Amino acid sequence: MKVIDLRSDTVTVPTQAMREAIYHADFGDDVYGEDPTTNRLEEMAAEMTGKEAAILVSSGTMGNLISLLVHCGRGDEIIIGDQAHIFYYEVGGMSALGGIIPHTVTNQRDGTMRLEDIETAIRGDNIHYPRTRLICLENTHNRCNGIPITMEYTDSVKELAGRYGLGVHLDGARIFNAAAALGVPITDLTRGADSVSFCLSKGLSAPVGSIICSSREFIAEARRVRKALGGGMRQTGIIAAAGIVALEEMKERLTDDHIHARRLAVGMTGISGLTVDLETVRTNIVFFHLEDTGLTEDDFMARLEERGVKLLHLGSFQFRMVTHHGITTQDVDLALDILRDAVG
Ligand SMILES: *Cc1c(COP(=O)(O)O)cnc(C)c1O
Repeated sequence: MKVIDLRSDTVTVPTQAMREAIYHADFGDDVYGEDPTTNRLEEMAAEMTGKEAAILVSSGTMGNLISLLVHCGRGDEIIIGDQAHIFYYEVGGMSALGGIIPHTVTNQRDGTMRLEDIETAIRGDNIHYPRTRLICLENTHNRCNGIPITMEYTDSVKELAGRYGLGVHLDGARIFNAAAALGVPITDLTRGADSVSFCLSKGLSAPVGSIICSSREFIAEARRVRKALGGGMRQTGIIAAAGIVALEEMKERLTDDHIHARRLAVGMTGISGLTVDLETVRTNIVFFHLEDTGLTEDDFMARLEERGVKLLHLGSFQFRMVTHHGITTQDVDLALDILRDAVG
């Protein structure tokens, strides 16, 4: 039976071009800064995001953690959306390992935080308070339906941060999806951030790796923190070679994923028992709600699994599907038939 795996774009596997690039790559010891393939990937990433320097790390979680540890000291506070991936899904690493306090602000449905809410959350100068250091943004916003955040918004947060002497970190795990959906260059979306992290291993289909881009000074410090976390690796060209192919060949096709997600969402509006907010489906993520059809959530998941569709159950009758490389128009249509069958 064919399995249509819509749990995440992380299930993508390396392309043939990536496998060949890995085979032919030149290697050195990256802890000495001598892996030529990794150096090339880092230069490419810095240039693409309009930053001075970049560093390859093992995951998006590590990229965000290192960034926060560079921006903040122990007891410092960051302002972050209450739906942010860093707050929700990164094991509280900032607090456990950095003594950093998350000060959450409500995420609006469009993935933004109101500027006035951010401003209210910024601490004044008072001996009782922790120091606010940083504002964290996320683009595309995972838990807000993968919605892309505009450069106008990011710039306005940067302006606010600047007035208070705060930094801005952008969790841009899917920043290339955001740029594709908005039809703007990546640099428009990253110029408002002092540091940005993005994933090679999601829609871009590389097997491993994320990248932090920032100033030369910031990245030099990030290199120390990465080493402390055990993230200094040796012949990382084996990872970077696939990352280079990801950046060179896999960005343009993200639009296909967005078209597929849209097709999936539009198709679902015709299935009674499932509700989807079409307006929010702008990239490759589709959230939907299972109405009262007499089915339990477990029944529904089991029916889909039996018929070969995998998706993510988020609780409270909410589910998520993500389109990615390897999911075709035919797969989308088949998944729709299976969804209709499962609730029918
Ligand atoms: C996936 C993701 C991350 C973390 O990446 P991992 O490689 O899974 O650690 C961070 N932020 C967002 C928004 C993500 O979607």
